[in-house]
Amino acid sequence: MPEVLKRLINNISLLPWIWEKTATKLAFFLLNAKSDYIENFKSSLDDLKSKIAKCPICGSLMNAGQESCKICSSINREKNIICVVEEYLDLLTIEQTWWYNWVYHILGGSISPINWVFAADLNFKKLFTRIENNEDKIELLIATNPNIEWEATTAYIKEEISKLGLSYKVKITRLSRWLSSGYIEYADNITILNAIKERKEI
Ligand SMILES: [Zn+2]
Repeated sequence: MPEVLKRLINNISLLPWIWEKTATKLAFFLLNAKSDYIENFKSSLDDLKSKIAKCPICGSLMNAGQESCKICSSINREKNIICVVEEYLDLLTIEQTWWYNWVYHILGGSISPINWVFAADLNFKKLFTRIENNEDKIELLIATNPNIEWEATTAYIKEEISKLGLSYKVKITRLSRWLSSGYIEYADNITILNAIKERKEI
């Protein structure tokens, strides 16, 4: 087999959820694909690292060069409710419900000492600055995945808010029920809507 093809198969097989046979099939698909498709595909890969940036306010993804993401810069968004999620994909899932008009904060994961993820590794600092800089009372809806890490993440947020003397202006809420899938990313709209509608103060 030509070296170039071998290398391509190897690169594809490093992608998650791809078996070696699938990698080979995909490599042959690309080999036989039209040149303009390959060019387009190549340029999307090139642009991944150079044309995507993180919003300096909430940590979500945006086009590089923008000052802040669409949600943070929108005048129609309710800035006093911050929905705290682990990943950008969770934001997309919640936004798909078309129901809520709040802003977000993306932590980049949740605290998990077992996996060597600590508070300093996550996007907490900017969250507390946002609360500090907001003149009005804030609701912080913690919508991280309902697992054991949730406890540690929520406890840390509560503790820091109280340490910073911000408790008087923050109401912390959480999703009302465990999602059957265990992940927000995989939950359907109705489950998400119910979990949010019946959110509880903690
Ligand atoms: Zn933003």
